[in-house]
Amino acid sequence: MTDTIKVVRQAAWVVAWDEEASCHVYRQDADVAFSRSGIVYIGPAYSGPADEEIAGESLMVMPGLVNVHCHSGDEPIAKGLFEDVGTAALWGNALYEYSALIDSDADAKAACQTVMLGDLMRSGVTTHLDIASPHPKWLSLAAGSGLRAYLAPGFREAQWRMAGSHRLDFDWNKGRGRERYADALAFVEEARAHPSGRIDGVVAPSQIETCSEELLQMAVGEARSRGLRITIHAAQTMAEHEELLRRTGETAPKMLERLGILGSDLILGHCIFLDHHSWTRQRSRDDLARLAESGTSVAHCPVTFARSGMTLESLGTYRRAGVNVGLGTDSYPFNMLEEMREALICSRVAGRSVFDLDTGGLFSAATTGGARALGRDDIGRLATGAKADLSLVDLSHPAMQPVYDPLRNLIHCAAERAIRDVYVDGQAVVKDRCIVHLDYDGAVRELRDAQKRACRQAERDDPQGRSLSVLAPYSLPLAR
Ligand SMILES: [Zn+2]
Repeated sequence: MTDTIKVVRQAAWVVAWDEEASCHVYRQDADVAFSRSGIVYIGPAYSGPADEEIAGESLMVMPGLVNVHCHSGDEPIAKGLFEDVGTAALWGNALYEYSALIDSDADAKAACQTVMLGDLMRSGVTTHLDIASPHPKWLSLAAGSGLRAYLAPGFREAQWRMAGSHRLDFDWNKGRGRERYADALAFVEEARAHPSGRIDGVVAPSQIETCSEELLQMAVGEARSRGLRITIHAAQTMAEHEELLRRTGETAPKMLERLGILGSDLILGHCIFLDHHSWTRQRSRDDLARLAESGTSVAHCPVTFARSGMTLESLGTYRRAGVNVGLGTDSYPFNMLEEMREALICSRVAGRSVFDLDTGGLFSAATTGGARALGRDDIGRLATGAKADLSLVDLSHPAMQPVYDPLRNLIHCAAERAIRDVYVDGQAVVKDRCIVHLDYDGAVRELRDAQKRACRQAERDDPQGRSLSVLAPYSLPLAR
């Protein structure tokens, strides 16, 4: 394959990496040359070979966003169902009683994944970490999309079971959990051997409270011996927090510290309900230091939690405590730029101050924060020698005008509307706002039937035998 060189000429703005200062900086009127093998040049008047020239006078070139937590499995068909419900006795969370009822069948998995991948790349994501149950097309779709992918097949020994609408119980089946674990390890090896070089696997005990301590330690030991990243949902709900207190008397970080699991290769999903969070009413203030000192990363996905009235307290506080935080989208709308906007707003509301977090700090979390969580210094930044994972932002879009500070316009206003082209390894995955390698429209059509099937199944599965109109009432009454 020939390695053609593309050059963005005189880009109005470039978000470039300053190695010495170890931070992103703006450059104006700069050339950016890149190829399949990486970023070749950033600076004035590039004079090397060029196979394709891109006029840059109305463009910002920025590093691809790194999404360290998303779920392709069922989330795209849960859209529109449970945004207004929750379990009051479980702190208003909808996860256990409602969301868990929606499952995509085998036919729908590929469509769900295709829609997620398309939405992510159109919002400037170039790397994603997808936690899901493996299906036959999972690896081939991720690879074929052109995105950089970390595939994390989840496994667990206990299933959630709701007793009425008031108590969360656990159905343990360790034998089945161990089989899933073995399957996951086999899948991870298959993923990392993919010839594209863009795919890796992650060891993913699904939730801290649905795996035994023995399995958590075994899986983490295995991941470390193979040099793999690890991700676990932890401190994600108050129900989980209270369950851990009941079992061990510990918060999630304290328990993981005792088990020797905290570390720089670990990404904890959500990590909201720590001992300093106002809802947990703990008397200690040690959890943030546990995460910071061990180098453990947090995957922060504000939108889905804010919809249920909860938020991490606060992104700015975690960063100041020295905790590495990357951003993820978790669920729909799989729009990383909207996620970033919400992360900034939630941080300032939870921190009760406009000074809790600034746009530059937020952008770092969404780029180098995620890259660090994945143990990489060659993505999430535009520097010579780094991967050519980048987006071209259309500054002429009305939502970007007038341009004083393009990142602020992008995050606070335009979002994905201004993302024109997205490149991974120097190859376009989004070109003129169109997805290059996926049949996005076909997948969207499949989701309609898939959601209907999932809704019928949810009515059959609901332990209280409720109809969909009771589980998920319309937001407005139907006219008589
Ligand atoms: Zn999640």
